[in-house]
Amino acid sequence: MSQSLFDLVRARMPAEPSAKTFIETADGHRHSYADLVARSGAYAAALAALGVKPGDRVAVQVEKSPEVVFLYLGAVRAGAAFLPLNTAYTATEIEYFLSDAQPSLFVCDPSKQEAMASASKAAGITEIRTLDASGRGSMAEAADAAPTNFVDVSRGGDDLAAILYTSGTTGRSKGAMLTHANLASNAVTLAETWRFRADDVLIHALPVFHTHGLFVATNVILASGASMIFLPRFDPKEILGLMPRATALMGVPTFYTRLLKEPGLTQEATRRIRLFVSGSAPLLAETHREWQARTGHAILERYGMTETNMNTSNPYDGARIAGTVGLPLAGVSVRVVDPETGAHLPADAVGMIEVKGPNVFKGYWRMPEKTAAEFKTDGFFITGDLGKIDPQGYVHIVGRGKDLIITGGYNVYPKEVENEIDALPGVIESAVIGLPHSDFGEGVTAVVVARHDAPGEKEMLTILEERLARFKCPKRILFADDLPRNAMGKVQKNVLRETHAELYRS
Ligand code: AMP
Repeated sequence: MSQSLFDLVRARMPAEPSAKTFIETADGHRHSYADLVARSGAYAAALAALGVKPGDRVAVQVEKSPEVVFLYLGAVRAGAAFLPLNTAYTATEIEYFLSDAQPSLFVCDPSKQEAMASASKAAGITEIRTLDASGRGSMAEAADAAPTNFVDVSRGGDDLAAILYTSGTTGRSKGAMLTHANLASNAVTLAETWRFRADDVLIHALPVFHTHGLFVATNVILASGASMIFLPRFDPKEILGLMPRATALMGVPTFYTRLLKEPGLTQEATRRIRLFVSGSAPLLAETHREWQARTGHAILERYGMTETNMNTSNPYDGARIAGTVGLPLAGVSVRVVDPETGAHLPADAVGMIEVKGPNVFKGYWRMPEKTAAEFKTDGFFITGDLGKIDPQGYVHIVGRGKDLIITGGYNVYPKEVENEIDALPGVIESAVIGLPHSDFGEGVTAVVVARHDAPGEKEMLTILEERLARFKCPKRILFADDLPRNAMGKVQKNVLRETHAELYRS
């Protein structure tokens, strides 16, 4: 029996597909579940006619629109691996991805076609089609001309459904190979954990080139036969206006901090929403508390990554504890080990987080050695995240392994220092990094965003010295207007490290 992700979509299809909305756009255009089946079928047929064979890759760098979702499902139905690329990538970066992935087709925005054509040529890719933000272009035209009654290519659970390149905040991007079983199992588990039903309406304001918007949000809706309101970008006012018509919102922490700045965010405005989910970057405990005070809702924080889909979630019914990413999802095992010896650590001890389960990817595309290095012999994947599991079983993330600072031989977890700085009056947020230091190896350094009534560098250091062991105290505190972030709202510590690399050298 085929175990394609689309078999799950069919099995969970609403009883009356033509009467049930799958996607509604901001301009009020509705696409039903019947439209989804027809349009994804047309894309599958168009892809096959363009020479895309089962097992091939279909690379896509286009603006968000419902057509991208139909193209994604069309690729899956044609047995190909869908490979979405961040819309911010330049032609030079795209050339790397195309050379590495060798897709049989590349779909880009028509406005970039010229630059992308030379990048594609350099990568040896000859088939290019286009799709713009309104869902038009030569790829859409190919689908217009194709039959809609495509017979899905049968797939095993272990066959590839997608390749997502890691966001590369540390080192070069790697292609994570995600199977039909990875995506289907996570969609079902999340839909159950978060109690999604056919009458749910999700506000979808995330990009669809990333695991959060494409898999967590879209696949959960598909697995529930529910609806989503598709927004091209995050706009706090627009979202507030839509809340009375929706039941759920999934976002990165920046969504929540920016919504909190809106005076219209009240209990009344959020009354119909039953679930606010946050992930992809740490949600400050402060934001969690403020949100609860303003709206009466406890944001549900979850943790995952491109390679693993989602691993943990705060409970739907039990306590949603601020500053934690919750409990392992059903079927997922999470453990914390000593990064040096690999020994399993007891509750509350900080170490490397490792995970295993049907959600965990198959490996890195054409990087067997890198894949082997990141899996343990018993099948656990080394996430690269440092954290601990508390006695109640809740997982806490303290930072990325690469962000760990070693100063004078002592380990400093940036999160611990950031928490102390963030608690100071007038501080909005902070990022703690290690910079090359001739004496200590790395010097603990804080980059702080603060209001002008916040204490200055000297005063802050005096306060911190009372709260933190001396080796954890920053050697310098630098002030900035904001912190560099990637598209998912993650602070780019690598950018900060590069910018300030010379701080202790002079
Ligand atoms: P990505 O592959 O772009 O989704 O990034 C995955 C990384 O984001 C994880 O390895 C974590 O470092 C981080 N991350 C995701 N969710 C959370 C969360 N709820 N809290 C803290 N870090 C998170």
